[in-house]
Amino acid sequence: IVLASRLSKKIVKPLNELNLEEPLSNEEYDELSPLLKRIDTQQKQIRWQKKELERKQSEFKTVTEGMAEGIVLLNSEGEILSINRAAAELFGTDIFAVGQNILSVNRNPALTELLHKAEKSGHTETVAELGGGSYQIDASTVLSNGEVIGTVLLLLDVTEKIKSEQLRQEFTANVSHELKTPLHTISGSAELMAGGMVKPEDIPEFSRRIFAETRRMIQLVDDIIKLSHLDEGAEDMKREETDLLHIAEGVVQTLQPEAKKAGITLELRGEQAVFSGIPRLLSSIVYNLCDNAIRYNRRDGSVSVEIKNEKDFAVLTVSDTGIGIPPEHRERIFERFYRVDKSHSREIGGTGLGLSIVKHAARLHNAEIGLQSVVDGGTTVTVRFPKTV
Ligand code: ADP
Repeated sequence: IVLASRLSKKIVKPLNELNLEEPLSNEEYDELSPLLKRIDTQQKQIRWQKKELERKQSEFKTVTEGMAEGIVLLNSEGEILSINRAAAELFGTDIFAVGQNILSVNRNPALTELLHKAEKSGHTETVAELGGGSYQIDASTVLSNGEVIGTVLLLLDVTEKIKSEQLRQEFTANVSHELKTPLHTISGSAELMAGGMVKPEDIPEFSRRIFAETRRMIQLVDDIIKLSHLDEGAEDMKREETDLLHIAEGVVQTLQPEAKKAGITLELRGEQAVFSGIPRLLSSIVYNLCDNAIRYNRRDGSVSVEIKNEKDFAVLTVSDTGIGIPPEHRERIFERFYRVDKSHSREIGGTGLGLSIVKHAARLHNAEIGLQSVVDGGTTVTVRFPKTV
């Protein structure tokens, strides 16, 4: 018994001391060699597969972390398997949400409904409000052998798209409304005249009204065409070396009769300021600013236009002594059809589009617009054009 015990211990000892981390370094028994070789090959295979998995995981992480779109992988129970930074921010959580159920992380009813629908139909999408913006959420189920094993959620920012759709709808509604008002006046006046209901001495007044409304409509249509041209990028308009003073001289000359009629002094001073710009658009900017400065002025008021050079900028300043703009309206007057006093603007032939054209045309020149105004004191608008684009 003693001998057998010792012998078996001696035989088993090297087996217990086998270094399985490096199977090929064991040289005790030749009989074990095939087994150790097999273990070594399998270990190499496992190590390679582990490395490959890590590489793929890090590749997936790098791609998804850098994405502006949110991406979430869920298992069949709706638990989060993976969530990228963008999605975590939108759902108001962090990467530690992994393992939690998506519906406990975010209780948006649209999301609950979306997941239910995706379960039934395989793919579905919806638009939901997340993190202060509008997001399109696409949900697609992942199948394996005909069974749903998970769901992929993709979140795309569609805030801008929805906003521009809304703006377009608003714009169309506004245009229709703006065109309808003068058309009603024209058709009403013409109808009365045609029916002989207007006294001969009133005919000039009726005709004047028709003429004024027609002019306003033409102005409106002109402004709309200009704006839509700017919306499309005005690519047919080429930049050329332009002197802002020369442009302003032309505009001031054109507007001088209108200023005189309103009893307003219109003055231009300054120096040559040359830079690469689109002459027609620059002319539109100066025209609209001066036109407003004259129209929103008081009797015996004045408008002064100044052109100067400041470091790398050509600067246009239009100041008036007019009615001013109350602070709460200053942000919005550059919006399409926004007016401080709708009926006053209409009366004096405004379209509500002048400053939107200024804003758009300035943006195409990378120019900044500054506005200072004192109610009943006057308004100063400054446009700074960078000379190097
Ligand atoms: P409008 O055709 O009505 O003048 P704009 O887009 O040119 O349209 O201007 C928008 C609004 O901004 C005007 O209706 C007016 O209320 C206000 N506004 C613009 N310029 C001046 C100014 N120089 N002084 C006072 N108010 C102004």
